[in-house]
Amino acid sequence: MATPALGQDPDFDADVIVVGGGNAAFTAAHAAAMRGRKVLLLEKAPRDQFGGNSYYTAGATRIAHDGLDDLSDLIESDPRHPVTTVPPYSEAEYAADIAKVTEGRNDEAMTKVLVTEAADGLRWLKSLGLKYRLMYERQAYAREDGSYLFWGGLHVGNVGGGEGLMQDHLVVAEKLGTEVRFGQDVCGLLVDGTGAVVGVEVRANDGTVTEVRAESVILAAGGFESNARWRQEYLGDGWQNAIVRGTPFNNGEMIQAALEVGAARGGDWGSCHSVQWDANHAENESNRELTNRLTRQSYPLGIIVNNRGERFLDEGADFRNLTYAKYGKVILQQPDSIAYQVFDATLRPKLRAEEYEMPGISEVVADSVEELAEKLGVDASALSKTVEEFNSSIDTTIPYDPNVLDGRSANVVPPKSNWAMPLATAPFYAYPVTCGITFTFGGLKGNIDGQVLNEAGETLPGLFVCGEMFGGLFSGNYPGGSGLAAGVVFGRRAGSLA
Ligand SMILES: Cc1cc2nc3c(=O)[nH]c(=O)nc-3n(C[C@H](O)[C@H](O)[C@H](O)COP(=O)(O)OP(=O)(O)OC[C@H]3O[C@@H](n4cnc5c(N)ncnc54)[C@H](O)[C@@H]3O)c2cc1C
Repeated sequence: MATPALGQDPDFDADVIVVGGGNAAFTAAHAAAMRGRKVLLLEKAPRDQFGGNSYYTAGATRIAHDGLDDLSDLIESDPRHPVTTVPPYSEAEYAADIAKVTEGRNDEAMTKVLVTEAADGLRWLKSLGLKYRLMYERQAYAREDGSYLFWGGLHVGNVGGGEGLMQDHLVVAEKLGTEVRFGQDVCGLLVDGTGAVVGVEVRANDGTVTEVRAESVILAAGGFESNARWRQEYLGDGWQNAIVRGTPFNNGEMIQAALEVGAARGGDWGSCHSVQWDANHAENESNRELTNRLTRQSYPLGIIVNNRGERFLDEGADFRNLTYAKYGKVILQQPDSIAYQVFDATLRPKLRAEEYEMPGISEVVADSVEELAEKLGVDASALSKTVEEFNSSIDTTIPYDPNVLDGRSANVVPPKSNWAMPLATAPFYAYPVTCGITFTFGGLKGNIDGQVLNEAGETLPGLFVCGEMFGGLFSGNYPGGSGLAAGVVFGRRAGSLA
């Protein structure tokens, strides 16, 4: 029997409509369905492209915990566990990391909720059927004695990465009786005479608009990173040229719809999460096959130069999780918005395999720094000077250890504060990178239960927000793994109330 058209199904009178089809949307849907609410989830993407940015992730999720023993009920077992150390990561450290990277511009109340509820949120999702593991390949370097030491506060991820996460979410939603509809372009909100939100408008391919009603609407439709015009308007000139790492469907349309019914803007509309991204791969935008493999995150081991052959940032300023999300912007600001990560033969085997062994990777290899420069079209004497000055400025009395902030610095301008190793052994490798935008930090204003607020700070009855669309947690930078964690925590809260 054909599925009845939206709004015309007498047997499906939804209590709660969830708009979006990523991690936050599904989490909210599960929480509402667990309370016996009839949930209708409307995802804009067709089924074969569903899952939003969440699908493109590595599934890395930042939670507070007390070390490996504490995590044992959450993660899948692994033969490496007996030789693994996972340093505890407290709620206070989590909150301090958010405050540090945002330079104190984070919403304190939201931060407190996030850091105290993220671990419990994952355990709850696990009880529903999601699966988690320790991320050896991303967050620990194997030591010579065969042991592993995790670093950076980000240790847990979904089995199967973002793809596994979203497939698991879909199975849970079906099990809980949520009606999931794909290819639904929600374009507006319905408001009654009292100002309460009572449903949504959905636009069909032929342009006709259908009204679908429910008691509550939860918005989980992402940021506006896929909208080049909004990027230019709100993030600044040049951002229209950034490459979209994830879904092409997050264009801010539902943010606009909420503003039109009186919602207030929340968070920092002038900044976003952006990273170093393969500059020359022919299909480096919204690529569902390669997803996160197009990112280039082993830069703390080497150096980064622009097309003048000059370094321009501190590659070792902090653990990668705490710097990577702000360095895309710095690359965007370089001449031609391009830069090159440079390594030598000693460093090359330490690069993250899933990214640097990517099929079709943009890679340049040469037997000397001069030859590398020529192949890149960079001034050879400038690049040689940069490498020589860097090599000769390293404090080699300090032992090198990529698992800790080792303080082994290169005292040049700008400095490299940790993990400085001379680039001295041929062959030399360069990876061209440009700016890949991940998600925008600005969205709607809400309270800690995800109830949407107006400019006066009053709730808009019937309207909730979660995920990327909920502004306030991040600004300028972001600690890796907190996007999925935020979707879990605030999605669960919204779904528990809607
Ligand atoms: C390549 C990449 C790697 C990442 N890696 C990580 C990681 O490992 N860990 C981490 O924490 N974060 C990571 N992030 C960030 C993370 O993806 C986001 O923080 C998180 O997934 C946001 O979840 P969300 O549900 O709010 O949004 P999304 O997952 O983007 O979902 C938004 C949904 O809304 C739908 N939608 C949009 N407009 C409409 C509309 N008008 N009508 C109906 N539906 C609509 C979209 O189709 C989409 O399904 C990564 C992002 C990318 C792009």
